[in-house]
Amino acid sequence: MRIKFVLLAVFLLAATGRTQVNKALSPGKSKESWRGVHIGIGNQKAVEQLTGIVGELAGLGVNVIVGEINYGYRYESHPELRRDNASNSAQIKKLLGECRKHKVRLIPQFQCLGHQSWKTKTAPLLTKYPQFDETPGKYPNNEGIYCRSWCPRHPKVNEVIFALMDELIEVFEADALHVGLDEVFIIGDEDCLRCKGRGKAELFAGAVNDYHKHLVGKHKIEMLMWGDRLIDASKFSFGKWEASANDTAKAVDMIGKDIVICDWHYELRDAYESVPMFLEKGFRVWPASWKKPDAARAFVDYSKRYDNARMLGHLNTTWGAVAIKELPSFEPLKYATRSFSKP
Ligand SMILES: [Zn+2]
Repeated sequence: MRIKFVLLAVFLLAATGRTQVNKALSPGKSKESWRGVHIGIGNQKAVEQLTGIVGELAGLGVNVIVGEINYGYRYESHPELRRDNASNSAQIKKLLGECRKHKVRLIPQFQCLGHQSWKTKTAPLLTKYPQFDETPGKYPNNEGIYCRSWCPRHPKVNEVIFALMDELIEVFEADALHVGLDEVFIIGDEDCLRCKGRGKAELFAGAVNDYHKHLVGKHKIEMLMWGDRLIDASKFSFGKWEASANDTAKAVDMIGKDIVICDWHYELRDAYESVPMFLEKGFRVWPASWKKPDAARAFVDYSKRYDNARMLGHLNTTWGAVAIKELPSFEPLKYATRSFSKP
């Protein structure tokens, strides 16, 4: 869907640390629901604006902010991958300080694998390292595709990505990282000699497991990801965006159950059966809505039926549909935070 456009234009970051506040909010250690909002923080202006409203968001009941920063940080390990107007560490620390002051957990997001281009613009990784592209030289000007992907089996790509993740974990003092992974349509391309002939679920799970090993295994932090590539579109009544019609869904049984699945659905439906599916498989699920108030209400109400400690709460996404300064009056967010706040 055109849901992510604004994203690439606006990404930034967010984070939070291994603080007492965060520990108090961690699943399994507290019954507190996760009342979250996802915001693109890919430039300085977005970080500054978000910093200015953290108190108001906390007043609404928000206790988690997922800040999607991608290439919008002034990385020292790979300065060539910085976007224009990328934030510096002082700006991130100011945001983090504000979050801690208001007991809001800040989780940075770095979009992995897919979404490496938007329209004609290719993101820094595949611009600077075209050899990492799953389809190098194909689709000039990105015509005929949704977004570019990197090749999960390129022997050098994780070395670069992990250096960026390490910097985000450090500056955000993060106790969790969201790795994105939504809407990966280009995977296992027939012209990629490393991936050709391999199952797409195996390739997708391989990428997930690489990131899991780095984040959960090495850094001992939590990992979050979007859930759409893990939902079989032939078995559930979701379309090819919010579920997988490109053979990745079997990966759901090949990855760590300690990953938090951000299960996004933005349309009004009678049921959102991916929630019980993920719960039954043992994952923690964080349902995510967007801008349609009736759809957000329906999803919140549906998921609240599941009296399960692994049904974490609700994540409101924004995707540019609401200006950051207007967020405190964003109707779907107000409904979700109210619904998951203790009386
Ligand atoms: Zn490949």
